[in-house]
Amino acid sequence: MEVLKGVAILELECNGIFIYPTLLWDQEMAVLIDTGFPGQKEDLLVAMDKVGVSSDKLQAVILTHQDIDHIGSLPELLQHYGENIKVYAHELDKPYIEGELPLLKDGHIGNPPKGKVDELLSDGQELPYCGGICVIHTPGHISLYLKQSKTLVAGDSLYSENGTLQGIHLPTTLDIKLAQQAIRKYINLDIASVICYHGGVSNENINEQINTIILANE
Ligand SMILES: [Zn+2]
Repeated sequence: MEVLKGVAILELECNGIFIYPTLLWDQEMAVLIDTGFPGQKEDLLVAMDKVGVSSDKLQAVILTHQDIDHIGSLPELLQHYGENIKVYAHELDKPYIEGELPLLKDGHIGNPPKGKVDELLSDGQELPYCGGICVIHTPGHISLYLKQSKTLVAGDSLYSENGTLQGIHLPTTLDIKLAQQAIRKYINLDIASVICYHGGVSNENINEQINTIILANE
């Protein structure tokens, strides 16, 4: 579903769980934010097709963090695209994504997904792709602010239900206090829409909704 011009959520389903990777694109290229569970490469390619973006436009993959539902199909994407895509992640997530350390929440899994991270991202950095992508380190995690569309790709830092932001996604948050503090980083952004990996898009009175969540946490 195209949320705004050049930004779409790709709805994927695995055992009844819906997740929402983000795709953004311009004339030159497409960028995918998060890759679903293992085994969802084909679903991703089909979803790209559905929003009218040719899968060979994909040149970059940004991973918000190392959870299995976010990095799951990275190995298959790397196999499919080879050197044609660059993988971006935060320094702290890199050893988990590359398989040097067991995944924080799914460490028991025998054959965890892994793949090479090409470039490290840090707080405040801006990638020049698709109108500008700003990196916000929300501990345990990065969020991405898409300048052109004023869209916050919140990853798991927030979740939503029926278009309303609900606060932190507790089932996937290790340090709740830190996660609550991290949301404060959104206060000064001019946000038109938020894409939550769990729950999808929210696009009404975002700053007000975020303030309410912050107040409720105090
Ligand atoms: Zn998640």
